[in-house]
Amino acid sequence: MYHTSHIELSRAALRSNLRFLKSRIGELSRLVLVVKGNAYGHGIEGFVPLAEACGQRHFATSNAEEGWRVTRALSRSDSQVIVMGEMNDEALEWAISEGIAFHVFDMERLKTSRRLAERLQRPARIHLELETGMNRLGLEDWDREKIVAILREHSACFEIEGTCTHLAGAENIANYVRIQDQLRVFEEGCRFFVSRGLALGRRHVSPSSGIFFYPEAILDQVRVGIAAYGFWPTQEVRMRYLMETEGRQALGQKDPLKRVISWKSLVMAIKDVTPGQFVNYGLFYQATKKRRVAIVPVGYSEGFSRALSNRGRVLINGRRCQVIGAVNMNMISVDVTGIPEVKPGTEVVLIGRQKRQQISISSFSNMSDEMNYEVLVRLPERIPRVVVS
Ligand SMILES: *Cc1c(COP(=O)(O)O)cnc(C)c1O
Repeated sequence: MYHTSHIELSRAALRSNLRFLKSRIGELSRLVLVVKGNAYGHGIEGFVPLAEACGQRHFATSNAEEGWRVTRALSRSDSQVIVMGEMNDEALEWAISEGIAFHVFDMERLKTSRRLAERLQRPARIHLELETGMNRLGLEDWDREKIVAILREHSACFEIEGTCTHLAGAENIANYVRIQDQLRVFEEGCRFFVSRGLALGRRHVSPSSGIFFYPEAILDQVRVGIAAYGFWPTQEVRMRYLMETEGRQALGQKDPLKRVISWKSLVMAIKDVTPGQFVNYGLFYQATKKRRVAIVPVGYSEGFSRALSNRGRVLINGRRCQVIGAVNMNMISVDVTGIPEVKPGTEVVLIGRQKRQQISISSFSNMSDEMNYEVLVRLPERIPRVVVS
């Protein structure tokens, strides 16, 4: 069916990002690609096979529904998915019977997994997630002895694939002390379990930002999301990388992370407006001079934030054009004064490159005061995704 916009995923960019990140983490550590949030808005069904074709074998999602979608999108028998977050009993049963790994972050889940594994006669493939100071999810210190007892007594019910925690804000160096404390607590927790004779599997704590700020936290595995899609978690992380590797003169020049996603639409109509007239709803925008306005069939229902009203930019004919007036549910008005060749059907780039101009996610998110993560995951599932070379 016809759609008013489409998303392109670049194979070359993803391949290059994965190669770069793997070279950073080294051969001994495994890169697990986080595809929660519909693969950060890139679309699980389009993105996962693309990543698989780029050699990626390990994926992680936040919940079972997305985990299930990933398993359906995968085509190789050696590809796997880990569910890191919420699952009800029914979902746990599915995971155990399908041999899908998941995080165990509280006693309740440990006990339920044991019960289900016993009934299904299949071991639960688990990652023990330890509380280390984020105070979100994680097995508590005071339950350690009970955990050891359960794991030992029911060793046939479990395959401990890994042991992990999550760093509470590795993307801002201001959190340095808190992160160091977490790493110490994690280390200590691991030592405890090892001293009780448990094999902990792969140890992993680091998201994208940790690879750059805390290389000592790369351990046996990293869980990389945002960087694989070609974005720095924050400008701080990017600066840190550039300063360490290329010297200051290279700042702002070479970027090893390449944007995988582009988002494009077409002009649907043109209006010529005389001075004094208002454009679009209400009194948001009044033309002070003669203006040419292009109407683009994308609005906040497509993920183009209302915060971009009168502020956003799109690319048309290689020029940056301002959004004027309010972002509507399914349309925006864009100032194309001085670009006479624009007509219905002319390409509009909402995210990505056109000729020598580029709208990056960070310029997009700066304009709307949002995180790049947020801008990405809001891109609706229904927009078609197309892989380009
Ligand atoms: C989202 C997430 C990640 C990946 O974070 P990025 O900053 O996108 O690399 C890693 N671990 C967990 C537990 C997550 O929820």
